[in-house]
Amino acid sequence: MSELLALYGGPKSKTTPFATGKRFTSEEVNEVTELLQGNSLFYRNGGKTAKMEERMCELYCMQYAVACSSGTAAVHIAVAALGIGPGDEVLMPAITDMGSIIGVLYQGAIPIFLDMDQDTFNFDINDLEKKITPKTKAIMVVHYMGNPCNMDAIMDMAGKHNLYVIEDCAQSPHARHKGKLVGTMGHIGCFSFNDIKHVSTGDGGICITNDANLAGQMRMYTDKAYCRKTPVVKFSEFLAPNYRISDLCSAVGYAQLGKLDALTKRRHYIAQAINKTMESIDGLNPMQVSEGSFCSYWFYLARLEEDEIGVSRNEFVEAMNGEGIPVNGSHTPTPVYDYGVFKNLNAFPGTGYPFVSKDFDSNYSYKNTDCPNAQPLLDKTVIIRINEFFSDQDIADICKALEKVAKYYRKGK
Ligand SMILES: *Cc1c(COP(=O)(O)O)cnc(C)c1O
Repeated sequence: MSELLALYGGPKSKTTPFATGKRFTSEEVNEVTELLQGNSLFYRNGGKTAKMEERMCELYCMQYAVACSSGTAAVHIAVAALGIGPGDEVLMPAITDMGSIIGVLYQGAIPIFLDMDQDTFNFDINDLEKKITPKTKAIMVVHYMGNPCNMDAIMDMAGKHNLYVIEDCAQSPHARHKGKLVGTMGHIGCFSFNDIKHVSTGDGGICITNDANLAGQMRMYTDKAYCRKTPVVKFSEFLAPNYRISDLCSAVGYAQLGKLDALTKRRHYIAQAINKTMESIDGLNPMQVSEGSFCSYWFYLARLEEDEIGVSRNEFVEAMNGEGIPVNGSHTPTPVYDYGVFKNLNAFPGTGYPFVSKDFDSNYSYKNTDCPNAQPLLDKTVIIRINEFFSDQDIADICKALEKVAKYYRKGK
């Protein structure tokens, strides 16, 4: 006999609260306190931004890091520094955060969406070459939910077609593809420190690269294209936003980066434990990580096949919530190309630009975007909102709830 679900009045699987912990400790407090005593919070004066950038370089064995005000800003300065602009196309996954795209549009370039792989939740490598055109300038790789993309195949393809590769690692700090840290394989790696990401500065972002010229350009794009070397030579030779990070944020960020390794290892451990249980449940397919790679798990993802498990995705989510487990469906209802900005070609309202433009011979529409697996994947997605503070008891309770819910619906068949 299977146990009655809490959703229908049965006992809950989770009877104790989830363990919590402090993300910010004396290490952050000490950095901030020291900064405040110095009388300036400007990123060039307080010393904390330089210190955070150095730590990032050490962590990633890279030569240059440029901090900025958000992950969205990080992607934007990367796009701008690479000279991607009007008339250029950038390939990217159909499912991602708008932060991967905003900078592309602001630079006047055109996102071209790639279909999704339903096992890895990353873009389908097989769709890449089909969508390369003479206008393609770059590939925006997004390591979704911490899962490393197949960088070997991507870099091969990019080399073959002479394309830039930007790695959007906002959801995947410290993830590794076959031993190599994501963010170090493309031309530029971009990271977010917004408050729901692995490590937080409230808001913030950072880019890494080994190219001195790109690093210099990115620095200019964070700071109004002001040359701040003394004596001042030139101001704003080109258009650039102000995406400066505050040294207050960097003080926190420096301390936070020191916690990344332990934090991602713990998330990985939790995910492995859930994987074990999922493997025994027909119709729940955990996000697949390639052999020899390390997923840093922003959240835990699985694909639910209704026919096999015997319940709809939405009812499964409700049942898990009923058991006291933090589960939801996909984090976005539709692929990005169905957002108004694309559907209505509404980037710069009233102009059609950059999608429709005589100057660049552009005439794009996203109505028939060819990504057949994107919406179905979102409709099958189940997210368990794990975090590093979960105790072993919490993990056991998640697994118990998964088994209970699966057993209940299996009985019904
Ligand atoms: C969070 C995120 C961003 C943007 O980061 P912000 O700091 O919120 O601007 C960009 N890309 C991806 C994939 C993200 O998840």
